[in-house]
Amino acid sequence: MRQEYPCIDIDIAKIIHNICEIKAICHNEHIDIGAVSKGVCAQKPIVEAFLKAGITQIADSRMKNLKKLQDLNCTKLLLRVPMLSEIDDVVQYSDISLNSEISTISKLAEAAARLNKIHNIILMVDVGDLREGVLIKDVMDTVEKILQMKHIHLFGLGTNVTCYGAVIPDKHNLGMLVKLKKDIEEKFSITVPIISGGNSSSLYMVINHTIPREINQLRIGEAIMLGRETSYGQLIPNCYKDAFIIKGQIVELKDKPTIPIGNIGVDAFGRKPHYEDKGIRKRAIVAIGRQDIKVDGLTPLDEDINIFGASSDHLILDVTDCKKKFTIGDVIEFNVDYGCLLIAMTSPYVKKYYKNEQAYSA
Ligand SMILES: *Cc1c(COP(=O)(O)O)cnc(C)c1O
Repeated sequence: MRQEYPCIDIDIAKIIHNICEIKAICHNEHIDIGAVSKGVCAQKPIVEAFLKAGITQIADSRMKNLKKLQDLNCTKLLLRVPMLSEIDDVVQYSDISLNSEISTISKLAEAAARLNKIHNIILMVDVGDLREGVLIKDVMDTVEKILQMKHIHLFGLGTNVTCYGAVIPDKHNLGMLVKLKKDIEEKFSITVPIISGGNSSSLYMVINHTIPREINQLRIGEAIMLGRETSYGQLIPNCYKDAFIIKGQIVELKDKPTIPIGNIGVDAFGRKPHYEDKGIRKRAIVAIGRQDIKVDGLTPLDEDINIFGASSDHLILDVTDCKKKFTIGDVIEFNVDYGCLLIAMTSPYVKKYYKNEQAYSA
């Protein structure tokens, strides 16, 4: 079979391994994982790997992705608060959705009545990160209104941090969520089964056993894919950080100066570039660009390679210091960060290759 470039090699066995490790440390703290598929466009082989590893709940921000997974036997959770334009789909194709607007929840209730369903919601509370969520002072009023809606089940409280405001989850902000749950249960004489305590940034508290014991769900994406928690960027013990490798092919290789010749205007993205004069260097152009990757999210596996920059379709590398003598057609490999993974998985120009798909079932 002819190999296509650029491509991303996806090691299913490593993904399954990462999930099993993360699941094990979470289960020790009585926490269930919703595996987040949005960073990989809910690609079927990856979601199937989630299920093989024993995951029963798949979470994604896009209805299109959840719809694509409709015949898989698992609970589907919509992460992004619903748009009014997708309400019927939300009720039909997701079992649980995260919500923060009472007017949207009442539309969900109407749709659920029409479709003769009960729709589960997790009410998002903003504990300080300033992305989605009801402010703490408004939680009780909102809950009171939700409880009047017959076709809506208040399945849990949730929060999201370290996304917009880079607020790190801690005993204080997660503790507020726990206190709210207790207040709600007492005031309305109900049980709130789930407290969803955030994303991969909450894992450090699981690892060092400081996560409040009432937190019983986390929504985990990046840690599964790249093997690290996201509060401090630490690797999770025994996890792989290289389940995804991007590969591109060299199409030009020449010795050139490091300072462009001529008057400097702005680049293809409207930025005025700055150049450091390193003299004549061996430059390799790899056929991959900003349509496929995020330049500062790429790390060459060969540590002697430096990245000069990229335009839409060309990545320019400094290979002067490499031990290997490259030729046209050679393939350069890169590790990725989450933002780069997201773009590569979304780009139709990056071929996806899966390996170790027969990896064991947990
Ligand atoms: C993306 C997302 C997650 C997963 O975040 P990771 O950092 O990838 O673990 C969890 N919850 C919500 C609401 C999200 O949008």
